[in-house]
Amino acid sequence: MTSSAGKKILIVEDEKDIRDLVKLYLDKEGYRISAAVTGLDGLKLVKSEHPDLVILDLMLAEMDGLEVCKRIRADPDTALLPVIMLTAKADESDVVVGLELGADDYITKPFSPKALVARVKALFRRLERKPDDSPRLQYEALTMDLSRHEVTVAGQAVPLTAKEFGLLEHLLRHPGRVLTRDVLLNAVWGYDYYGTTRTVDVHIRRLKQKIPLLDEAIVSVKSLGYKLKEL
Ligand code: CA
Repeated sequence: MTSSAGKKILIVEDEKDIRDLVKLYLDKEGYRISAAVTGLDGLKLVKSEHPDLVILDLMLAEMDGLEVCKRIRADPDTALLPVIMLTAKADESDVVVGLELGADDYITKPFSPKALVARVKALFRRLERKPDDSPRLQYEALTMDLSRHEVTVAGQAVPLTAKEFGLLEHLLRHPGRVLTRDVLLNAVWGYDYYGTTRTVDVHIRRLKQKIPLLDEAIVSVKSLGYKLKEL
């Protein structure tokens, strides 16, 4: 048994042949598969079945893949759900948009089922290797020491406020993931915080001023939030 066994994967795809093929191959790998035909049903299953990963077709009835992905990212419960987008070659510009809206990877049709399985495994591996309880987080010359509550850049201490520290910690723990303003607000300020998402923008700006390497490393994702570039 591999570590992949038992993981739930949802495929949202309106073409039956592709849906069946993907199901067949992922099933063989020991994944538990559920499927939806429309974007709206896909989103419902995301909420009711709590999959570990979603394979999402771009062109779908009712609600397209980009909108589904955007809604997955905007909901704090599913904000970090891994998404692989299926696209046709002609959709290249949509692919870029898709990744900006928070897909973790994409694969272009026509694709071999084996290639998709490889991508699924790679994405799970990538996400599992993230250190979760490490007392130290590292990003280029930046080190965050969680036990000492201290941030240094190339050995020089950088004084941060508690909220700046919390925000930076959340970004460092999820490199490469799109984090919406709401998700960041809830993670750092708490659900009962009475404020606006503008607060997040202000603090991101301050972080960038205090730590210049973050100016390029933290990218703003159109209409959604922020992402710390993966190294
Ligand atoms: Ca389609």
